[in-house]
Amino acid sequence: MLATTLIVAALIGSPFTPRAVVPVTSPTIAITATPTAFNPQASARATETAIVVVVSVAGTLSVDVVTEAGPVYSNLVPATPVTAGSTTTANWDGAGAVDGSYGIQVTLVNAAGVTSQALTPVVVDSTAPVVRLAALGSGKTAVGPVPINGTASDVTPLTRLTLTVESQLGATLGTVKVPVSSDGRGGSLDWNLRLRKRLLQPGVYHLRLTGVDGVGNVGESASRLLRVDRAVKNNIIYSLREAGPVIGLAFDDCVSEQAWLSILKSFRAAKAHTTFFCNGVNVRANPTAARATLAGGHTIGSHTWAHPEMPSLSASEQVSQLKGDKEIWWRVAKASPMPFFRPPYGLHNATTDAAIGAEGFAYTVLWDVDPSDYLNPAPGVLVDRITRNARPGSIVVLHVSANTAAAVPELIRALRGRGLEPESLDEMFGVAAYLAPRSR
Ligand SMILES: [Zn+2]
Repeated sequence: MLATTLIVAALIGSPFTPRAVVPVTSPTIAITATPTAFNPQASARATETAIVVVVSVAGTLSVDVVTEAGPVYSNLVPATPVTAGSTTTANWDGAGAVDGSYGIQVTLVNAAGVTSQALTPVVVDSTAPVVRLAALGSGKTAVGPVPINGTASDVTPLTRLTLTVESQLGATLGTVKVPVSSDGRGGSLDWNLRLRKRLLQPGVYHLRLTGVDGVGNVGESASRLLRVDRAVKNNIIYSLREAGPVIGLAFDDCVSEQAWLSILKSFRAAKAHTTFFCNGVNVRANPTAARATLAGGHTIGSHTWAHPEMPSLSASEQVSQLKGDKEIWWRVAKASPMPFFRPPYGLHNATTDAAIGAEGFAYTVLWDVDPSDYLNPAPGVLVDRITRNARPGSIVVLHVSANTAAAVPELIRALRGRGLEPESLDEMFGVAAYLAPRSR
């Protein structure tokens, strides 16, 4: 078993080019094989190579496929009399051939018994390239360009390499073309953190490389995490009218794991996503729910480490409230609450706003609907308060409590009845959440 593993590892790690078959030319034989590389198993692309042979003297002609070691692998055209200037065609479909380099070999014996040979190489490649994305820098948080280094093992060189950048929830934000190295065995790029000409906002991203080989086979690397952090301009929002007939329910604090898991279950059953602004202390206390939130595709935002009245703290204390929340989400779920922040009690002053921007949060998310769920109104009352006040693009402040959790299924039904689909902030903002405004 160990030996097998070692052999497989050696094969995967081997360079893409097997010992190349060397072309042989002849003054009396012209030979072409098109394409020079193909995949016998492909469905849409070339599954065979078309061979054309033109001879300038008469004789007996045969066409064979030879392996890279030299022996004949199969005979395509048996010995056949040909006249000077005649054309012979054949196809090779590679049936049963293992991936590698082969030669199409033409043998011509003229009337005097003199033999001449010509050979042109072809490659059979039925395997997707094995693409790897190297670790991104030293694992530190990126503020500037990030070295993207990819490698690929395959029997044919890469023709294209693309970096795909996803949000931490797996939404594709954009792609970047990575220049392929001259040997086709990889590619590299000092990526400036721009997508669609816009700078990536602070946050956690999933990066992977997709490689396309010479015959169109596609291989994809595993994902790598990228943490981006830097100061940004903070914007305060109360609603997002341009989002259309949707509503952003956002649940704060996350004290009760039971209520938290219940809300997640209700949204899963309703096939909808929502948003949570949890305090760092509660993320630390409820790691299972924290990870389930991201796995369920919900948006997370920061609500400070310990729920203080931010304006009552010094500037450095406010910054550490934000840093604590960022670090616990990374520790617990390899995730980031950026770009969304909601201050406890909605309280913020100029010092708070400066700290929020300095710590990389592009949006302070307040609300235009407050049903006072912290007073534990009866579910019907809570649902009525929200549906009466909600408009397209509204953002609602709620809390992760047993009382509110019990009202969630009916709340989702009632909102849908009024034509408002519950969405997470990721869904309401779309790609715009993660790309800085076009400037500089
Ligand atoms: Zn709160």
